[in-house]
Amino acid sequence: MAYTEKEARALFAQHAKYPLGFFPTPLHRLDRVSEELGIDLYMKRDDFTGRNLFGGNKIRKLEYLIGEALAEHAEYVFTYGATESNHAMQTAVACRKAGLKPVLYLTALVPVDESDVRSNLLLDQVLGAEVHIVPMHEGETEDDADERGAQLAAARQKELEAQGHHCYDIPMGGANRVGSVGFAEGFVELTEQMQALVKHADYIYHATGTAGTMAGLAAGRKLTGSDTKIISVNVSEKDDSYLNKAANLANEVLDFLGVAQDLRVDAASDVAREGNFYQPGYEKPGKESTEAIKYLAQTEGLFIDPVYSGKAFAALLAHVKSGKIPQGSTVVFWHTGGATALFAEQEIVGDLSTKLIYEK
Ligand SMILES: *Cc1c(COP(=O)(O)O)cnc(C)c1O
Repeated sequence: MAYTEKEARALFAQHAKYPLGFFPTPLHRLDRVSEELGIDLYMKRDDFTGRNLFGGNKIRKLEYLIGEALAEHAEYVFTYGATESNHAMQTAVACRKAGLKPVLYLTALVPVDESDVRSNLLLDQVLGAEVHIVPMHEGETEDDADERGAQLAAARQKELEAQGHHCYDIPMGGANRVGSVGFAEGFVELTEQMQALVKHADYIYHATGTAGTMAGLAAGRKLTGSDTKIISVNVSEKDDSYLNKAANLANEVLDFLGVAQDLRVDAASDVAREGNFYQPGYEKPGKESTEAIKYLAQTEGLFIDPVYSGKAFAALLAHVKSGKIPQGSTVVFWHTGGATALFAEQEIVGDLSTKLIYEK
C-alpha cells in the first residue's frame, strides 16, 4: 500500500541530511504560456534551490550526499562531470558551506581556453576547488575519457587516504541511491504544493542526464501511489536501456528507504523517456531548444538553459502541438537550474541573438 506524504517524509528523515538549499522551492503558474498552449502549466523552480543565484537540481541530492560525507567524517569530496558541469560546481558550493574540500575531475568535452574561462568552470575557480581537467585524447570517446578521469581520481584518493585524509566519492550527477532520495522528497514536496492549489498534475516534464533526478521522482511517485506521468527528456543520445537504469536506481532508493516490497518501479510502465530532443548532442544546442529558450523568455520573462531545460521545454512544446499532451491537461515543468550555461562557451550557447538596432 502506498504511503501518505507524511509517512513518506518520516522515511526520508531516517537519513542524514545537511541543509543547503531553500525549500520548498516556488511553484507557480505560467499564465501566458498556458493560455497560448491550451494547457494548465506550472513551473517548479529548482533554479531557486540556492545557495546562491546558481542553484539547481543537484542541491536536493547534495543535501543527502553531504549529510553522509559528514557522518563518515570525510575531509575531501571528489566528483566528476564535464568542464561546465552544474553538478560539479554545486558540489563545490555544498562542500564550502559544509567545510569540506572539493576535488573535481572534469572531462574537457569543450576544450578549455585559459584566457577566457567562463560559467561554471570560472565559479569552480572562485570557490577554490581542486580542479583536474581531463582532456579528450585523439580517438577517445566521452566514456573513455570519463573512465580515465575516474582512474586518475582513484589514484589521487589513494594518495590522500594514505596521508590520513578521508575522501568521500560522489558519482557524476550525484546519481546514486543517497542522492536520489532528494528527488523522491522533491516529488512529495511538489505533491503537497499541488494539493494546496487543489490541483493534480497529469504530467511532469524535466530534463534527464545521469537519471538521478528521474529515478528519485519515479521513486517518490511509486511511494505515494501517484498516477502523474513523468516524461524525462534525454539531453544526450541514449537507448531504451536507460529506462532500466532509471528504474533500477529508483528501486535502490526504495530499498534504501525501507519501503515495503510491493512498491517497486517497473521499467516498462513506470518510467517514460523522450529521446528525440537531444540533437545534435550533449552541450550542443539544437534549433528547437534555441527556439524554446527564446519563446519562454519572450512570453514569460523566464530563462532556461541550452544544455538541459531548453531541450526538455522544446519536447513539451512539441508534445502539446502533436496532441501527445491533450488540451486542458495540468502540466508541471520542472526547472532544474543551469542558467550559467547561457554564459558558457559559444559552442554551448548557440545563437540566441536578436537583431540589434544600431543608431548613428
Ligand atoms: C544535472 C542536470 C539535469 C539532469 O539531472 P540528472 O539527475 O543528472 O538526470 C537537468 N538539468 C540541469 C540544469 C542539470 O544541471
